Amino acid sequence: MSEPIITFSKVNKWYGNSFHVLRDIDLTVTRGERIVICGPSGSGKSTLIRCINGLEEHQEGSIVVDGTEISDDIRAIEKVRREVGMVFQQFNLFPHLTVLENLTLAPMWVGKTPKAEAEKRAMLQLERVKIAEQAHKYPLQLSGGQQQRVAIARALCLTPKVMLFDEPTSALDPEMIKEVLDVMIELANQGITMICVTHEMGFAKAVADRVIFMDQGQIVEQNKPHEFFNNPQSERTRDFLSKIL
Ligand code: ADP
Ligand code: MG
Repeated sequence: MSEPIITFSKVNKWYGNSFHVLRDIDLTVTRGERIVICGPSGSGKSTLIRCINGLEEHQEGSIVVDGTEISDDIRAIEKVRREVGMVFQQFNLFPHLTVLENLTLAPMWVGKTPKAEAEKRAMLQLERVKIAEQAHKYPLQLSGGQQQRVAIARALCLTPKVMLFDEPTSALDPEMIKEVLDVMIELANQGITMICVTHEMGFAKAVADRVIFMDQGQIVEQNKPHEFFNNPQSERTRDFLSKIL
């Protein structure tokens, strides 16, 4: 289980010419590892995970995902995107497509899977997130928690090797957070590599192998959850934890 699947080496990124958003990021994620990233708003968490599938480009250093270096080569980025599923804060479902159509779109048009097969696989993923009975509804007919579970199922339809979550519960009403976290916990227990930006510290304690704290574009501290929460090393981490716990 110690084989790396994602490696950041001395990654630096700027927005425009002057805003240095990621500073000397070194990070190795091993296969099957479950990582939680936390840190103040604006610290670069979204930028860091978006660099993994080429949604943002970095200017210095290297990012290698399952043996492929992220570069300007669109084929490299396409290969990585087929292996990396992503779930956003705002579910990003297509409102004019049914739940089932949202799930079969990429497998049919990108993956060239025949429709019947794509639908069969999509139903299995909808069952996995416990929402199969909603397959023929449109996203806006569902609650936020249900929509987010659809978004997770959609990402799973491409059988990703890595799942990225960017604050998946931040846009949800409190009573819907648990149903989404429960699905994420189940996934985590099934052994998929996961990187989750979240401030749900209960989730971090329950499933994370490692918690990473970012501030001002840097990884300030990282540790196993128990050590991270009970014995934070840096002043900045302690300050952050005192505000959210
Ligand atoms: P986080 O997810 O930790 O809140 P982000 O990665 O979204 O942080 O953003 C880090 C910093 O980069 C913030 O100051 C944000 O305003 C800035 N930023 C994010 N996206 C862009 C962009 N496309 N152009 C310029 N600045 C950006
Ligand atoms: Mg963010």
